[in-house]
Amino acid sequence: MNPIEVCDVAIVGAGIAGLSARRLLVQQGLRVLTLEKSRGVGGRIASRRARGEILDFGAQCFTQNQPRWRDALSALAPVIQSVPSPNNSSESRYTLKTGMRDLAQCLADSCAIEHAPIEFENRVIRFESTPEPRRWKLECESGREVYASALILTPPMPQTVALLDASELSSSPVTQELRSVTYRICLAVLIAFERRLIESHSGFAFTPNENFDGIYDQRTKGLPGRQNWVTFHLSESASQAWLDRPEQEVVDFTIAEAKKIFGNSIASEPGVAPALHRWRYSEPHQRLPGTHRMIVKNDLSVLIAGDTFQDGGIESAFRSGHQAANALLQDQNSSLNSTRVR
Ligand SMILES: Cc1cc2nc3c(=O)[nH]c(=O)nc-3n(C[C@H](O)[C@H](O)[C@H](O)COP(=O)(O)OP(=O)(O)OC[C@H]3O[C@@H](n4cnc5c(N)ncnc54)[C@H](O)[C@@H]3O)c2cc1C
Repeated sequence: MNPIEVCDVAIVGAGIAGLSARRLLVQQGLRVLTLEKSRGVGGRIASRRARGEILDFGAQCFTQNQPRWRDALSALAPVIQSVPSPNNSSESRYTLKTGMRDLAQCLADSCAIEHAPIEFENRVIRFESTPEPRRWKLECESGREVYASALILTPPMPQTVALLDASELSSSPVTQELRSVTYRICLAVLIAFERRLIESHSGFAFTPNENFDGIYDQRTKGLPGRQNWVTFHLSESASQAWLDRPEQEVVDFTIAEAKKIFGNSIASEPGVAPALHRWRYSEPHQRLPGTHRMIVKNDLSVLIAGDTFQDGGIESAFRSGHQAANALLQDQNSSLNSTRVR
């Protein structure tokens, strides 16, 4: 890795919104660098893969309303399956037999990594404009510096606002608007049971109890593996109450609540350690109109995209990333057109 990198567009975040923006910009021939703080793609679409076991512990299902989104997922057609909708909504929902994270991997694979690198474990901490040539200079926690003619930010809004604040954009009206967006906390508890808990409805049980938002039997859902893993998403109030409690206490609470639904005879698989993931930003409480926001400072653009725009969820994140990239391409005044790396 060069300590300093110059590109046309730097994207912060390799979740669905960032990967969607990357896909369009690379298709249009731009040099794009994506910086991701974690070790893989997907963000809040998270699947664990270990020794033949695949488990979804973030998002569990998705919609496919837009033709562009369906096209982007065409390579996944053999592993997409339809599932019942939460709360009897008329909208069709889908899941993947290979784990939800493959949605992100499919988008990531749509452009060759050597042409559009994604740098993992590289958290962006701030950025500033440089005078000549006019560019954004991004600073990463690792000490890496990236220079880009334009910037797309896709982290959840509180993290995006923290970046804007650290980059002297705190007084921008857009930052003020984004500051109002708060997120639901969600504790995801993964437990292997001696038997399957849910045999029907593709393994989905929605709002069966005030302490759960959803319960997802990963084997009935069609994911491969030997153990009967179940993902419990605790409700917002339960997640708040148990947020800082030790893992074992959260697991014990979850099993006690699960017994009220599935009966006292259920038991966790001996010798298989449960897992807990604390999602501090699961889904936004507020939805913002439009598909993205743009801030221009010293003739340089920062686009903001993600699932807080429009309806929320995976498909909105895809649309938001695409539209932010499109806005950048359409913007005749954009610094991208004058400083583009050739
Ligand atoms: C428990 C849970 C259940 C859900 N269930 C569903 C569901 O069933 N269906 C549905 O449609 N949606 C669901 N969602 C919501 C869905 O996962 C999100 O709407 C969608 O994945 C958001 O994508 P995104 O790209 O906007 O954001 P993210 O996926 O959050 O991507 C942002 C990325 O930015 C990275 N990042 C953050 N800060 C930095 C930084 N400073 N530097 C570098 N990288 C950074 C993060 O690591 C992350 O990878 C669920 C979410 C959770 C947590």
